[in-house]
Amino acid sequence: MKEDGIKETIESLRKEIERYDYHYYVLNQPLIDDYEYDKLYHKLLELEKKYPQFYSPTSPTQRVSERNIENFEKFEHKPKMFSLDNTYSDGDILDFDKRIKNIIGNDFSYVVEPKIDGVAVSIIYRDGIFFKGLTRGDGIFGDDVSENIKTIRELPLKLEKKFDGELIIRGEVFFTKERFTKIQEMYSFSNARNGAAGTLKLLSPKEVSKRGLSIRIHTVVTEVEKTHSDSLEHLKDLKIPVIEKYYLAKNIKDVLDVKERFKNERYSLPYETDGIVIKVNQLELRERIGYTSKSPRWAFAFKYEPERAVTKLLSVSFQVGRTGVVTPVANLEPVFLSGSTVKRSTLHNFDEIERLDLMLNDYVLIEKSGEIIPKVVKVIKEKRNQDCKRIEKPKECPSCGQKLVQYEGEVALRCINKNCPAQIELSLLHFCSKSGMNIENLGEMMVKKLLEYQLVKTIPDIYRLNYEKLFKIPRIKEKSAKNILDSIEKSKRTTLKRFIYSLGIKNVGEFLSERLSENFKSIEDLINADFESIRKIEGVGDETAKNIVLFFKNEENLNLIRELKNLGITFEKTVKANILEGKSFVVTGSLKNFTRDRIKEFILENGGTFSENISKKTDYLIVGSEPGSKLEKAKKFGVKIIDEDEFLKMLRNR
Ligand SMILES: [Zn+2]
Repeated sequence: MKEDGIKETIESLRKEIERYDYHYYVLNQPLIDDYEYDKLYHKLLELEKKYPQFYSPTSPTQRVSERNIENFEKFEHKPKMFSLDNTYSDGDILDFDKRIKNIIGNDFSYVVEPKIDGVAVSIIYRDGIFFKGLTRGDGIFGDDVSENIKTIRELPLKLEKKFDGELIIRGEVFFTKERFTKIQEMYSFSNARNGAAGTLKLLSPKEVSKRGLSIRIHTVVTEVEKTHSDSLEHLKDLKIPVIEKYYLAKNIKDVLDVKERFKNERYSLPYETDGIVIKVNQLELRERIGYTSKSPRWAFAFKYEPERAVTKLLSVSFQVGRTGVVTPVANLEPVFLSGSTVKRSTLHNFDEIERLDLMLNDYVLIEKSGEIIPKVVKVIKEKRNQDCKRIEKPKECPSCGQKLVQYEGEVALRCINKNCPAQIELSLLHFCSKSGMNIENLGEMMVKKLLEYQLVKTIPDIYRLNYEKLFKIPRIKEKSAKNILDSIEKSKRTTLKRFIYSLGIKNVGEFLSERLSENFKSIEDLINADFESIRKIEGVGDETAKNIVLFFKNEENLNLIRELKNLGITFEKTVKANILEGKSFVVTGSLKNFTRDRIKEFILENGGTFSENISKKTDYLIVGSEPGSKLEKAKKFGVKIIDEDEFLKMLRNR
């Protein structure tokens, strides 16, 4: 194929993928299935790898940087990024309206929008290309989280239509309700908002991408139209993900009507909302209304009180977790709350039951605010009667019957029986899970059967299964036995990350397993690591580092690892491209096609080394426009000086 032909193919693939992304993520109307999509994506990836001269920063393959961010640099908000005044009262809304009328009279209208319970961000495009994504910070300077924002597939890296100069827009980053339900447990998020805030500040764009953040834009800073509502429509034409619902209100009475209506309508939105935002629609008038030091006077937020309901506590069940912690769960008389029926609520631990002075058959007030599982706020003491009974603190494990223990300084009740069936079952499931060893055909049903027929008692027993043993399960088909054994066999070739995760170390989820696997070459290295070297890894606190060290000091755990390796577990090595192997690069000035982070990543991906400073060992200095003092230094050391095009050519002439 001629180079022109390849370039065309690459460009049309990029366009096609962008279109599919838009339909999938923004319109929620997928055009093709995942398999077809993956095929196209990989085709593009391969072509781009083979022909790096056609690199483009806006290619859909460039959303996720493989390299970690070193730190978030500060970037100035121009103009200042305000926060909104907010209230829970109708009276304040009327006052807000009066203040505006005093300044500009009656000739204006409002736009009412959902108030997304997310993390505020500012996005900048330059000449139609994504330039930066910033957190609010103190409103004057925000953190540059561009690499993380870029992973959000709803947001175009290149605008649909030509747009000269700067376009500044602002919105919220969040997890959709659906997404949050899926990942909450995996990352132990307390609620969706905190989860999104934490995710946005991770140093690994790859991890951010995996978690699947979403974004909606509600503010257009750059003037593109005369009114706010027209501006939002304008953004839609550029394929920017704008809030899907907003209402035009002629006057404050309309606003209050919308407020009432939206109270229930909001549950049909894919994300959590906690109120409405009221904005003057005419941009020209906004300037006359002005700002306080913190907020615009032309916009106001109204928050709904968190919804509460009264229901009856029917019973309390005690559940044993994988690590033996026994958690009380309240079983409630079903009640409708915040758009869904609630039947259960966690009580965290027995101290919580005592703190609430909770009794069986009590009426309780429950509340849901951002969390998926509601919480018990208080007991309605006035409704207590003779039917109410004390909740007994369990003495024995509900699964194995062994005496529970409570360590000093801990509120948790624990079953410390190593052979506790509930814990073994959960450990096996964790080991086989998708993020763990990924043994596809060992799900909950089959694991239960294996335990029931005593075919498996410990984790290594999984690798001792054979046809003879599996056929002891009544009515098992040969086909499914084969599938089970195949998937077990397949899991033996694994990655360090999966293996670490599957061990079920306390507080070590998917994210930390990946960090650990990046920082230690082998499981042996990790076993021998000391507290300090684990502690300095991103996302590891004192407590977690201690847990990890303790885990690998425990003889039983070491035996488990040894046993698994003896049973044939091996680890894959990750291989890198090596076009630039043995060559070291330094960059100066600003480049046309690459950000600094991106070229660094690009060099590393292709096997080269990257350094910030020129030394005698430097092979190449890549020079962009307005180079710094590095150029002089390079000349002095006799370092080869090349421009961006020559660099791309190097990749071609391998
Ligand atoms: Zn037990």
